[in-house]
Amino acid sequence: MAILLSKRFLQITVLTVCLSCIGFFSTAQKINKPPAQESWTKPYQSFRIAGNLYYVGTYDLACYLITTPQGNILINTGLAESVPMIRKNIEALGFRFADIKILLATHAHFDHVAGMAAIKKATGAKMMINENDAPVLADGGNSDYVFGGRGSTFAPVKADRILHEHDTVRLGGMQIIVLHHPGHTKGACSFLFDVKDEKRPYRVLIANMPTILEETKLSGMPTYPDVGKEYGHTFEAMKALQFDIWLASHASQFGLHEKRKPGDGYHPEVFMDKPGYDSALNKLQQEYFKRLGDK
Ligand SMILES: [Zn+2]
Repeated sequence: MAILLSKRFLQITVLTVCLSCIGFFSTAQKINKPPAQESWTKPYQSFRIAGNLYYVGTYDLACYLITTPQGNILINTGLAESVPMIRKNIEALGFRFADIKILLATHAHFDHVAGMAAIKKATGAKMMINENDAPVLADGGNSDYVFGGRGSTFAPVKADRILHEHDTVRLGGMQIIVLHHPGHTKGACSFLFDVKDEKRPYRVLIANMPTILEETKLSGMPTYPDVGKEYGHTFEAMKALQFDIWLASHASQFGLHEKRKPGDGYHPEVFMDKPGYDSALNKLQQEYFKRLGDK
């Protein structure tokens, strides 16, 4: 009898555990993925941009690897399905995926951070993000001022370090200055740092270009009343920046495919395009002025 009872108990326990597992996995997987553009998922061959800085993203979703003797830094991940592509791109350059120690993001939208959870789990890297995007990253985008309120659009990640304006991220001799450029998201950031090759040093700007989503009302959004004002500050701050190489969150924003064809050799100078940056920023600011009057 006692054996029968305990057997029964065991069956019930196993069943309960299994049911709660199913429950856990179905909640864990409940991610409402927004539609992706074809250029976001299209593969692209990784390449050396300048010094110890490499492009490891997809055709349009830019991801950057900075290598150091103490491990590597990955900036942006693209979509969740981009992760195997990023891994392949890193390994094709002769680096180890497991050597990623720090994860950074230009902003917490699914097309740049949806792979963070998987990469963090696989590598144990530390996630660092601006204080104003940290809550959005932690709830999978549900508190985003435009895309929010629809549950998670990507797997949530709790930050290991919260970044503030002008903080420095350090690893293996690299110093990355964090520039808070809010508007596109509350915690959008650009990154400024130096790399060098056999010939010369380069100051690199990975810019989060202040594009304005169609849904954004610059007169104020319910959870971001100051959005118009913050965009205004961002334009002024970005116009004052000095650098040699300009890169951005999307390849299309800095004209990667006009500047470089797959298989091209090492030519950092093609990305030394301050006039291109000024003109792109100007165009966005014109749109900003136009939309400031919209209600
Ligand atoms: Zn975005």
